[in-house]
Amino acid sequence: MSKVNPFSMAQQQLDAAAEKLELEPAVHEFLRWPMKEIKVILPVRMDDGSTRIFHGYRVQYNTARGPAKGGLRWHPDETIDTVRALAAWMTWKTSVVDLPLGGGKGGVTCNPKELSETEKERLARAYIRTVWQNISVTQDVPAPDVYTTPQIMAWMMDEYETIRGQHHPGVITGKPISIGGSAGRGDATSRGGVYVTREAAKALNINLEGKTMAIQGFGNAGQYAATLGNQILGLKLVAASDSKGGVYNENGIDPEALVKYKQQTGTLQGFPETDSITNEELLELEVTVLYPAALEQVITEHNADKIKCKISCELANGPCTPEADDILYQNNVFVIPDFLANAGGVTVSYFEQVQNTYNYYWELDEIYQKLDVKMTHAFHNVYAMSKQEKINMRQAAYLVSVTKVAEACRLRGWV
Ligand code: NAD
Repeated sequence: MSKVNPFSMAQQQLDAAAEKLELEPAVHEFLRWPMKEIKVILPVRMDDGSTRIFHGYRVQYNTARGPAKGGLRWHPDETIDTVRALAAWMTWKTSVVDLPLGGGKGGVTCNPKELSETEKERLARAYIRTVWQNISVTQDVPAPDVYTTPQIMAWMMDEYETIRGQHHPGVITGKPISIGGSAGRGDATSRGGVYVTREAAKALNINLEGKTMAIQGFGNAGQYAATLGNQILGLKLVAASDSKGGVYNENGIDPEALVKYKQQTGTLQGFPETDSITNEELLELEVTVLYPAALEQVITEHNADKIKCKISCELANGPCTPEADDILYQNNVFVIPDFLANAGGVTVSYFEQVQNTYNYYWELDEIYQKLDVKMTHAFHNVYAMSKQEKINMRQAAYLVSVTKVAEACRLRGWV
């Protein structure tokens, strides 16, 4: 099944919001495109002495509300259009949680699983050497995304500071705590997702204690969703999957033990007392909460009718196509859209930037409490809009976010 161009999908979602908001044509057209795109070629010396050429990107989608902010993805399928789409969604994400930031995204087309640690370090440093003039706390602040890690952020920050000859920890977020990372960043995306799941359940009058959850994608976001969903909401994990397939037990799977097993073996397959399940089957399970936490376009018009969860909390970016959205809405599946559901990560990244700027660091409790306030407030703004306009949560989130970005563009006199 061929995938829709993700950037076309992002533009299609914006077009629907622009129509509803009756945006002026120039504002609409301005918001359909990234303000700045950087394409770089990265020669990297490999461990065997050969040189490989990688293609890298940085897209600053919109900076009307503040400096661009967004992760760096290292993936074999990375293209400029994936980066553009993710940068657009970052713009709507920082706006929906009301951070004084714009949206950006970057990446390198590569397979990190085939790179050694030293090759990754040289690739990270090569990337910064080519984009350093376009990033800074006042321009654009990268962060981790799929297959990039706090260690990679540390190398990147070091390269930037070496070039500048000064400390600039706020130039990149998602760093290890010992060199300026924030407490609570590691699980922030999932924690934020769990907070909005809690609010959604309250709005829908569902008591989550003892109810079931399934998780597609057992990486950073998925693993923490499993443990925090269980600890904070009392949800029972019944299925989880990764790129190699999944495991299922209707009586429940211990999330902590599954995380340890994946760390030790690199797979979920063979976890005791579970049956194998495919990624497709996992999405169609009759669970209370589904966490899509892998990649884009896993729920499409081909399977949307078979999705039976009550709440789909999209930790992944772009897991659901616009056609599938309509089907889920008709079928009363309550979708917490990606750029609201997974905004906890950028929110704590923003806290990290603030702490770096002040050179003063907060305790974990303070981070959790501030994150909860931001996520809860954002959820209720979007939910109120969806009720008022009788539209699905994604469209409502777009209306809330685009309104703010459009206003900032107008106030600056750009459009
Ligand atoms: P990760 O690299 O830690 O994990 C990705 C997981 O998805 C891995 O377990 C991988 O095996 C699995 N996967 C890959 N292809 C799959 C497939 N076809 N089917 C099922 N599983 C598959 O990445 P992450 O940081 O957890 O990010 C996951 C998603 O969450 C991405 O869409 C990312 O953009 C989004 N996200 C992450 C953060 C964050 O802070 N980590 C923030 C916002 C959004």
